[in-house]
Amino acid sequence: MEQTFIMIKPDGVQRGLVGEIIGRFEKKGFTLKGLKFITVDRHFAEQHYADLSAKPFFNGLVEYIISGPVTAMVWEGKNVVTTGRKIIGATNPADSAPGTIRGDYAIDIGRNVIHGSDSVESAKKEIALWFPEGIAEWRSSVHQWIYE
Ligand code: UDP
Ligand code: MG
Repeated sequence: MEQTFIMIKPDGVQRGLVGEIIGRFEKKGFTLKGLKFITVDRHFAEQHYADLSAKPFFNGLVEYIISGPVTAMVWEGKNVVTTGRKIIGATNPADSAPGTIRGDYAIDIGRNVIHGSDSVESAKKEIALWFPEGIAEWRSSVHQWIYE
């Protein structure tokens, strides 16, 4: 089953959106497989966003991500990478549809509340980086009521 890496960024934590965001993924029917609440250091944030290191906003992005604790998660389910990105909404909250997390809770691109892996390949890399200890092995007892 497909997995994705989801992170509630420091602004989402400070603004008390952790429960709301977890609830959206839970109520959709996805399964929580990993969860931790941590503050990461600069080197770690630079590794997570390594693909964006040449971008003009990279330093500001790293400062933002290390500015406070984040909620790091692994969610599992059919098409969870693509569907997770839809639940999150467009990168720039000015373009995110109402009903998406960024559309409902964010205004500026550099304070857009949440991260989600952009492909299955990135998800694998990000899960390995954030959860080197591994994730929970379990299967939800409502599985048969979500999948046909
Ligand atoms: N970002 C920014 N300015 C930009 C583009 C991106 O501050 O012009 C930040 C924003 O917080 C975004 C993150 O960098 O979520 C990573 O950018 P990416 O293009 O990977 O967007 P995402 O995958 O998060 O939608
Ligand atoms: Mg991205």
